[in-house]
Amino acid sequence: MKSWAQRERALETLSKEVGYVRKPHGSRLRIALCFPNTYWVGMSNLGLQTMYRLFNAYDDIVCERFFLPPKTELAELVATRAPLLTLESQTPVGDFDVIAFSVSFEWDYVNVLTLLRLAGLPRYAAERSHRHPLVMIGGAVTFVNPEPLAPFADVIAAGEGEALLPAFHRAYAAASDRNDLLRLLAQERGFYVPSFYEPQYADNGTLSGYVGAPGVPVPVRKAALRTTEAVDPPATGIFTPDTEFGSRFLIEVVRGCANLCRFCWAGYNYLPVRAFPTDRILDLAAAAKVHSSRVGLVSIALCDHPDIERILTRLSEMGYSISPASLRLDDLTEPIVRLLRESGERTITIAPETGSDRLRRVINKTVTNDEILDRAELIFASGIENLKLYYMLGLPTETDDDLVAIRDLTLLLRERMMKHARGRGQIGRIIGSVNPLVPKPGTAYQWLPMENPQVVEQKIKRLRTLTADIDNVYFNIKSERHSYYQALLSLGDRRVAPVIEAAERNGQQWRAAVAETGVDADFYIFRDRSQDAVLPWDIIDGGLKTSFFQNEFAKSLREEWTLPPKRQQENAKLLPMLS
Ligand code: SF4
Repeated sequence: MKSWAQRERALETLSKEVGYVRKPHGSRLRIALCFPNTYWVGMSNLGLQTMYRLFNAYDDIVCERFFLPPKTELAELVATRAPLLTLESQTPVGDFDVIAFSVSFEWDYVNVLTLLRLAGLPRYAAERSHRHPLVMIGGAVTFVNPEPLAPFADVIAAGEGEALLPAFHRAYAAASDRNDLLRLLAQERGFYVPSFYEPQYADNGTLSGYVGAPGVPVPVRKAALRTTEAVDPPATGIFTPDTEFGSRFLIEVVRGCANLCRFCWAGYNYLPVRAFPTDRILDLAAAAKVHSSRVGLVSIALCDHPDIERILTRLSEMGYSISPASLRLDDLTEPIVRLLRESGERTITIAPETGSDRLRRVINKTVTNDEILDRAELIFASGIENLKLYYMLGLPTETDDDLVAIRDLTLLLRERMMKHARGRGQIGRIIGSVNPLVPKPGTAYQWLPMENPQVVEQKIKRLRTLTADIDNVYFNIKSERHSYYQALLSLGDRRVAPVIEAAERNGQQWRAAVAETGVDADFYIFRDRSQDAVLPWDIIDGGLKTSFFQNEFAKSLREEWTLPPKRQQENAKLLPMLS
């Protein structure tokens, strides 16, 4: 693809956008910001939208975007070796001072490497020099376990963008050159410079520790906002019809979830729960109304916002139809369900995770089947027709009885649906989505091996049989193979980086990439890590102590709940984690 064609495409894209920023470069610090996926996917990501707004809020910074080109364009770019351009000024990405990636998903790791290649940069940090832009990788996955990406990054920004950016700006202003900048950043909270740290390995291949260069902290403490009371919520700032949620104004209402489910990295890593100011949420929504009539509320525990009913009521009065990203079962109250129904919602998604109360105590999902059925009654009685359910397979202590319980709970939910559907003369659907558990870093299950693949396959077969041929009920059960490589990227250390590099070269043939590099993937995925001295992700201190996770794991096996610190006072006790 020739540069002029890329330019035309960029101008066409900009012509459909509202809200982008165009600044002369002059002597400003030039940042090329990227969500490592296509424009279609990336423009619906609030992390990207927020970083763009925050960077451009500084007068001495100009931030422009670039994305993974669609397949045909990508092939043309590779064939013609034309440089990849940013959208706003159509400048080669490789000419910028900083390339910043916001990474949300493990599957996008390969895209980071593709984009570095298209920008004309060596992929490994060790092969780059002061002549190249500084490559900074941030985003949700990097403050959970950045290690598989560490060899590709000059800097990893671990934590929340709002807390990281002032420190980055300060260090940049003070630095005399690139090396000085890296040195200064390494002193700031949340900035991990992988080249300053040497992992140490024991004879059995496990990590035994990290040795840091003189003066750098080990571990690096994650940066997070202590409070969101005076902070503008992340929200759509650039509107375009050419994105997944293009018709919606997206806004984050509350950050975090206090439920402490033992498998949930998002729950543990965004503590404590912090609500964004109600007035700012409503002001931004009012201003966005000219661009959108649908609002997407992006929060993992929406109803933890103390003002949620007022927010929903006002949004509804503004004429918005409301789409919550997810709703926690215990927060589905009558007024909330009614407001959602009135705003046009026809499907509600809930996550029972499993069908048995016993197994829910194991994973600390603090609701019971009776409560779930009560909520379903409320949902269907309100006129909402469809229910989407998230379940998991391969949970600790799971037996065949627990699989049968998934079927039984679904049948009881179907009964509730049918009861209300008869009166309306229209039957909705129940859709069950089932994923195998991938033990995640920074959770109570971080030491667990993934369940044996043969056992998972048997369970998948069994559940398919149990849930087949139920009218108006559809199950989508993910295969174990998909989770296997995701687990490798999630649980790996730096030695997994060559697999990502090989997968990027070979068109994501992960099996071949593992074989080519000789990396023992099973070592990372199926090993009990409880005796390891150090875990790869221990290089980032997320705030929660190892002893807390160990205690949670022990309680899990005893089938004991840790009740969520819902009250403000209890929740405040979580604050010291960020101090
Ligand atoms: S309810 Fe549990 S699974 Fe859902 S976001 Fe909160 S901690 Fe995570």
